[in-house]
Amino acid sequence: MNCEWVQRNITLYLYGELADDAHHELEQHVARCQACAAELAEQREFHKQMNALPVEEPSASPTTDTPVEASIGGITSIERDPTTNTVKVQYDRVTPGSVQGAVSDPRVQDLLLYAAKSNENSGVRLNSVDALVDKTDDMRVRETLTYALRYDSNPGVRLHSLDGLGPLVKQDIRVRNAVLEALLNDSNLGVRSGALHSLEPVKTDSSVRMALEQLAQEDPSEYIRTESRRVLASMPTVY
Ligand SMILES: [Zn+2]
Repeated sequence: MNCEWVQRNITLYLYGELADDAHHELEQHVARCQACAAELAEQREFHKQMNALPVEEPSASPTTDTPVEASIGGITSIERDPTTNTVKVQYDRVTPGSVQGAVSDPRVQDLLLYAAKSNENSGVRLNSVDALVDKTDDMRVRETLTYALRYDSNPGVRLHSLDGLGPLVKQDIRVRNAVLEALLNDSNLGVRSGALHSLEPVKTDSSVRMALEQLAQEDPSEYIRTESRRVLASMPTVY
């Protein structure tokens, strides 16, 4: 576990969403790395402010998280204003509240990331993903969209996540693997076909090529077989 990993995952840590072993490792790392400890302290402070709860004693055990969802009952709607390019995220607390601002505003973005992963309403998840798709330079956004592509139960949310991730298949191997996984395993033909087209720019990659060869032979969908053959046929000969 390196600093980059830790800093990318601090938000998930604060949300209490890291697996037990990763959670533990992150705490071990922070205990001996000043840079990451400072980053964690800053983000934890931010979450506290957002929760607007009485600030906890700093002596609280580091395992005592103050996850943002503890005070947010649920995100009820996400509206985007294309003219001002701002997003309004409405959520229930003890009383309903809302935050409004640019997608790049950390308070807005944290709520969007949270909603994209955990909201029960697929329409809210879809709107979150749509607000985030052009912010994939941010690693947390990229991770959230990858998570949605892998695990969201709604094919529309998976498709829209794929729209944001598709342009990254060349530069980010984890994104490429998630898209490849969607091509091979997604239950929805639209998602699979979107994944196939997203992977065209990296068709010479050996894992992509192997997948296409397999799909061209034996995929149950005629469309996927045909498209895989087409992409393979357009491939330059490898010497
Ligand atoms: Zn570190």
